[in-house]
Amino acid sequence: MIREAVILAGGMGTRLKGSQGEIPKGFIILESLPIVEWSIRKLISVGIEHIVIGTGYHHEFYDDLSKKYHGVETIQNTEYANTGSMGTLEVAAKKVTQDFLLLESDLIYDLSGLRILVHHPEANVLLLSGETASGDEVYVQPDADGNLLALGKDKERKSTAAGELVGISKISVRLLKAMCGYAAEHHTDIPKMEYESAMQAVAKDNPVSLLKIEHYAWREIDDVSHLNMAKSVILPRIHESESLLSVPREVLLNPGPATTTDSVKYAQVVPDICHREKEFSELLAYTQRELTALVADPAKYETVLFGGSGTAADEAMISSCVGDEDHLLIVDNGAYGARMAKMASVYHLDFDVLKADPCRQVSLDALEDALKKGHYTHLAYVFHETTTGVMNPAKEIGNLCRKYGITTIVDAVSAYAGIPFGLDDFNIDFMSSTSNKNIQGMAGLAFVICKKDKLLELKNKPMRCYYLNIYDQYQYFQKTGQLRFTPPVQTFYALRQAITETKIETIPARYKRYSEVWSLLVAASKRIGLRMPVPEEEQAHLVTTFLNPDWDQFDFDTMHDFFLKHHFTIYPGKVSDLPTFRIANIGDIKVEEMKRFISLFEEYFRDFTKQTH
Ligand SMILES: *Cc1c(COP(=O)(O)O)cnc(C)c1O
Repeated sequence: MIREAVILAGGMGTRLKGSQGEIPKGFIILESLPIVEWSIRKLISVGIEHIVIGTGYHHEFYDDLSKKYHGVETIQNTEYANTGSMGTLEVAAKKVTQDFLLLESDLIYDLSGLRILVHHPEANVLLLSGETASGDEVYVQPDADGNLLALGKDKERKSTAAGELVGISKISVRLLKAMCGYAAEHHTDIPKMEYESAMQAVAKDNPVSLLKIEHYAWREIDDVSHLNMAKSVILPRIHESESLLSVPREVLLNPGPATTTDSVKYAQVVPDICHREKEFSELLAYTQRELTALVADPAKYETVLFGGSGTAADEAMISSCVGDEDHLLIVDNGAYGARMAKMASVYHLDFDVLKADPCRQVSLDALEDALKKGHYTHLAYVFHETTTGVMNPAKEIGNLCRKYGITTIVDAVSAYAGIPFGLDDFNIDFMSSTSNKNIQGMAGLAFVICKKDKLLELKNKPMRCYYLNIYDQYQYFQKTGQLRFTPPVQTFYALRQAITETKIETIPARYKRYSEVWSLLVAASKRIGLRMPVPEEEQAHLVTTFLNPDWDQFDFDTMHDFFLKHHFTIYPGKVSDLPTFRIANIGDIKVEEMKRFISLFEEYFRDFTKQTH
C-alpha cells in the first residue's frame, strides 16, 4: 500500500493574478478551504502518512501547512521561475523514501481516484479520464500493450488517445530515478521540462500503465473560467460521488467502542494478507512504536499487543507482572478496579483491595496510609474510572509510588490518547489500553505499554496465563517480528489510520474537543435539572454519570430507544445502589453533533415533564 505522496506546487499561478491577488494556485479557495488542503485531507484519508510538497512561488503559503498537518513537509525549488514541474519534482525527490502518489497542486478531484491508486497492483500508473472539454486537455496515447507511449496537448493525438491526463499518478522509486536521470541529462537543452515529458521519455524501460475512469470528476484550475466551471459543474459531481461512499452516521455516546471516522472504517478494507508476512510485521512494528510514542519515549518503553478487548490488556498486566513473592494493592473506586481485583483472585495473587467511594477520586492520604502499612511491591489502579467518569489523581499517585519504590500497573484503557499524559512523568510502569476508545480505531486489539527495564524483569515471573503473557509475547516478537497468535488483521490497518489521525489532531487538541462537547452536555443537563453524583472538578470530561430523575415513569430503556431512533447511542449506569445513566463523549464526535444531541436531550425531558406533571 502507498504511504507517501508528492504534490508539485512550484508553478507560478500567474494566470489567476488579478482575480485572487498574489497567491500560488493551490491556495485558490473552494468552499472556504484552499484546494491544496482538500487534496491533503483526501490523501490522509486514504492512508497517506508523508506528504512532500515541492514549492516555489510563494512557498511560505505551503510552509504554513506543514505546521498545521503532521506528516506534511515542504521543500522549495528555488529555481522555480526557470524550471518546469520536473525541476520541482527533482527537488522533492530528495525527500521521497518509497513508491508514492504524484499530484499537481491545482487539482480538484473525486477521492475514488486515490483509493484505486493506493491499492493498484502495477508499480507505475497514470490516471486518465474520458473527455472533459476543458480546453486544456493532455491526450495520452497507449503503446501496443496499453502502457504509456506518448502524451501531449496537440489535437491530432485525440483520435488515438486512451484518455486525458488527470495529473494524479502512482510512481515507483525506480521510475522516479529514471525520470530524474533523464532530466539531469537535459537541464541545458530542455530547461523548462514538465514531469510528463520526463515520464514519457523513460517509459520504454519503465512501463507506466494507464488507468482510465471514464466519468471521473476532476478539474485543473488555473484561470477564472476553470474556477467557475469547477464550482458549478465539477464540485457537485465530486460531492455526489463521494457521498455514495459515506457510511451512515451513528454517534456513539457510550464509553467505547467510540465513534470512528469514515476513513478509519475504510482503512479496514485491504487485500487479504497473512499475519506472518513481512508487510504485516512492518505494520506491527510501526503500530507498536507509534502507540508508545504517543505517551513515552520508544527507546525506554515498549508496547506489547494482544488480540482482545481492553480487559485482555488488564488481565495481561495482572497475570504477568506480579510474582509469587510480590504483594499487590488494588484501588477499587469503580467497576474496573473491582474487575482487576477479581482477576487477582482468579490467579491467586497475594493482594489487598483499597475500597473507596465510586463517585470520588481516591484519597491520596488513604492510599499513602495503605502503602505504608502493607509493604506492597505493586499498585494497580484505574486512571479514568469509566464506571462514573471519575479521574483519579494519576500524577500524584505516581509520585507516591516513586517515594515507596512501588511498581505501578495502570488501567488507562479510557484515558490513553484522550487525556494528555506521559508515562515517565506520571511514573507509570505498565499501562493498558485498547484500539476502540480514545485512539478512535476499531475494537479487537489490546495493548500494554511497558517500561522496558520492568518488562525485562518479567522474565523471572511465573507464567500464570498462556495467551496473555506479556513477556512471552514480547520475546516472540523480538525473535520473529510476529505475534504468537492470529491477531485481528484488519483492525491493525484501521488502527494505523486512527494513529495517523490522532497525530494530526494531537492529544491535547483531542482533549480540548472532548472537554468542549462535555461542557455543552453538562450545561444542558443543568438546564434540564439533572444531577451528577461526581463533583465536576473530579471528572475527566469524557463520560458523565447522571442520577435518574426521581419520576416513577422514568425508564432508561425507553429513553435509550428514543435517542437511538435519532442515531445517538447512550449507556446505562454502572454504580451499584445508585440509579444512574451515562453519556460519554469520546470518539469522533463533532461539536455540531453534540449540539444536535443536546436539543433532543432537552426535548425529551421537556416532553416528559409535560406528560407527567
Ligand atoms: C472500557 C474499559 C475497559 C475494558 O473494557 P472492554 O469491554 O474489555 O473493552 C477496562 N477499563 C476501563 C477503565 C474501561 O473504560
